[in-house]
Amino acid sequence: MTADASPIPFIDLKAQQARIADGLHRRIDRVLDHGAYILGPEVAELEAALAGFTGARHCLSCSSGTDALLLPLMAWGVGPGDAVLVPSFTFVATAEVAVLAGAAPVFVDVRAGDFTMDPASLEAGVAAAVTAGLRPRVVIPVDLFGQPADYPAVRAIADRHGLKVLGDAAQSFGATLDGRRVGTLADATATSFFPAKPLGCYGDGGAVFSDDAALIDVMHSIRVHGQGVDKYDNVRIGINGRLDTLQAAVLLEKVAIFPEEITARQSIADRYAAGLNDIVAVPTVRPGATSVWAQYTIVSDHRDRIAAGLRAAAVPTAIYYAKPLHRQPPYRRFPRAADTLAVSDHLSGRVLSLPMHPYLDSPAQDRIVGAVRAALA
Ligand SMILES: *Cc1c(COP(=O)(O)O)cnc(C)c1O
Repeated sequence: MTADASPIPFIDLKAQQARIADGLHRRIDRVLDHGAYILGPEVAELEAALAGFTGARHCLSCSSGTDALLLPLMAWGVGPGDAVLVPSFTFVATAEVAVLAGAAPVFVDVRAGDFTMDPASLEAGVAAAVTAGLRPRVVIPVDLFGQPADYPAVRAIADRHGLKVLGDAAQSFGATLDGRRVGTLADATATSFFPAKPLGCYGDGGAVFSDDAALIDVMHSIRVHGQGVDKYDNVRIGINGRLDTLQAAVLLEKVAIFPEEITARQSIADRYAAGLNDIVAVPTVRPGATSVWAQYTIVSDHRDRIAAGLRAAAVPTAIYYAKPLHRQPPYRRFPRAADTLAVSDHLSGRVLSLPMHPYLDSPAQDRIVGAVRAALA
C-alpha cells in the first residue's frame, strides 16, 4: 500500500473543527458558564442569524429536521383523511412525518436530471389522492442533494389545488433559486442540522422558516408540548421539539464560515464535473438555481463496478437511496401517482454518491476521479 492510498473520509468534519476550534470552545464554555441548557440565549441568537441569512421573516429552531417537517403539518392541522404529496426518491423522514401527523403520504415521481419532484407526476399524485378518497392538503418538494426543487412549477399546481407547500430543505440550506435563498421559497421550509448536512451541528437539530407569523406562533407552542402561557398551560397537542442551547452555540460558530464553505463546495462540484462528465451522468443544476452539494451523486449503469473500484482505492461511497419509499414495507400501502414510479426506480439502481465536503483538496479529489475512471476503463 502506498501513502497515496490513505483512506479519504466521505465527509470530513475534523478539518472544519480544527479551523473553528478556538471560537467553538469559547462559545461552548459560555454556555457551561451561564448554564441555560434549554432555550438559552444562543437559541434566539441563532434563530435571528439564520432568518437574516435566508431572508425569511421568521426562523424557529427545533430538535431535528424531522421535527422541522412535523411542526408545520401539526400547526396546519393535517390529520386523518388528508394527503401529503411527497417524492418517493428521498430520505424516509419526508414521508414519515405525514404518517406521524395521522395523514397519508402520496408518492410522486422525480425527474432524472435534477432528482427533484416531477411537477407532472405531482399533478397525477393529486388526482390519485382524490381517487383514494383523501383530501390533498400539503406538498413537500425535497431539495435533494442540495439543489432547490422546482418551486415555481410546484407552486402553480399547489395553488390550483389549495395545497400548502412545505419545503424539505434538509439537504439544501444555503442554496438559492432565482436569487432567493432556500427558506423563502415555500409557505414553510424545514431544514436539518444533522452533523453531515451542509450546515450541521454536533448532534441533532433543525429549523423551520416562514414569513407567516401566525404559523410560527403555533409552532412555537407545539415545540414545547402545546404550551399556552407556559409549558404547564397546554392549549394544544405538542411535542418536545426544542434545539439544545449547546447545539445553537456550535451552529453560531459554524454559520460564520458557511458562505465560504458553500463556495468551496461549488468548486469541488465543478472539479468533479470536469473530471467525470464524459463517462458518467454528473448532476445538473437548473438555470436560476444554485446547489450546496449536500451530496455529489453520479448516475451510471455500472454503479457497482465503480463502487468496488473506489472501495479498493480506499475511497468510500454511499448510495442515496437504494430503495424508493413506495417500495419500503411500511409505505407500500399508501397511494402513488402511478403504478410504477419509473424514474425513482431507475435512479435507485444507478445512483452513487462520492465524497463531498468543503475541505476535500485537489490531490484527494484527483485520486477519486482517477479511481472512477480506472474502474470504467
Ligand atoms: C436528513 C434529512 C431529513 C431529516 O433530518 P433529521 O435532522 O435527520 O431528522 C429529512 N429530509 C431529508 C431529505 C433529509 O436528508
